[in-house]
Amino acid sequence: MNEIIYLDNSATTRPCARSVEAVTRSLTENWGNPSSLHRLGMEAELDVTAVREAIAKRLHCTPAEIYFTACGTESNNTALLGAAHKNRKRGKRIVSTAVEHPSVLETLKRLEAEGFEVVLLPPEKNGVVSVDALNAAITPDTILVSMMLVNNENGAIQPVADARKRIKQVGAPALLHCDAVQAFGKLPFTAEKLGADLISASGHKIHGPKGIGFLYVKKGVVLPPLLTGGGQERNMRSGTESTPLIMGLGGALADLPDLATQLTKMTELRDYAVRRLQGTGVVEINSAPESLPYILNISVPGYRSETLLHFLESRNIFVSSGSACAKGEGSYVLKACGFDRRRIDSALRISFCRDNTAEEIDRLAEALVAATQKLRKA
Ligand code: PLP
Repeated sequence: MNEIIYLDNSATTRPCARSVEAVTRSLTENWGNPSSLHRLGMEAELDVTAVREAIAKRLHCTPAEIYFTACGTESNNTALLGAAHKNRKRGKRIVSTAVEHPSVLETLKRLEAEGFEVVLLPPEKNGVVSVDALNAAITPDTILVSMMLVNNENGAIQPVADARKRIKQVGAPALLHCDAVQAFGKLPFTAEKLGADLISASGHKIHGPKGIGFLYVKKGVVLPPLLTGGGQERNMRSGTESTPLIMGLGGALADLPDLATQLTKMTELRDYAVRRLQGTGVVEINSAPESLPYILNISVPGYRSETLLHFLESRNIFVSSGSACAKGEGSYVLKACGFDRRRIDSALRISFCRDNTAEEIDRLAEALVAATQKLRKA
């Protein structure tokens, strides 16, 4: 009963041993400033270059197209503000979805306040924006399209490559940004296949440390930077590189299993979870079967998400209540998908990683049944 069952991997993942070792090595042995011209600086620079190359290899792009940032949020801010400001003379129409992460939605609100016209596409019931709606929204005067690859609440996979096709078809000057924070290191993709000019990712979602992310910027695209100063990251992101965290990200990358094989395993685990949880008679499934199997959104109608979360916590099982907002209005993602109040108020996000097991799912199912027996109905 002392072992924790961690099923909140979309919030953050446990840093893997290789990542922790890499951080420690950077802090204790290779702590020079990569900008220094002496040997200590050059050794730190070599470490940074190796991680940049490892990311580039995964995205099938060049290392020069990868810029380190402090997090997925910074990558999204840099991409959206940079792209909109760069293209502002060409138009003001921005197309995105209603189910983006707040780091995109709040930034789009800022751009709207600056005079940009923001169109947010609602998803279908399965969480996915229809290609027809996307095609209708992307007009020849669209200057930016921002679409996440995988939704953080229900795992829905968005048709990002279709956005690229449409941009090309209508001859729009739009840059295409993709928030791939929940996809990178889980769903195999390359920059070219995705078709995005800008791709955001974050280290702590793949068993790396918090405080490190990166932004892919396609060759030829030049954005105004968010941070100006010493000109690090080829003027895109000033500030001394966080070598320990970059190295930690490198350790996490080196430890990633083959993504396709892991995806098959996760699908088996998720399908087991769906069967097992549905079998309890108290759980309803909110994620569509075609979603990324790392994320499973469920509801236990009649019981409040937060109450359930704390009940599970008392049994050392950790899940998320989704992004229930402070006003208690419930998940805007589930709302946008058309779920009713009862379902939204009782939603839980179960998110897996490579370490989770079927036995843990059994424990979760038993605990949810116990919750419905012990807790008072809302
Ligand atoms: N985008 C998505 C889809 C996310 O799920 C998250 C974090 O949960 C972020 C962006 C922000 O990433 P970070 O925590 O690295 O700022």
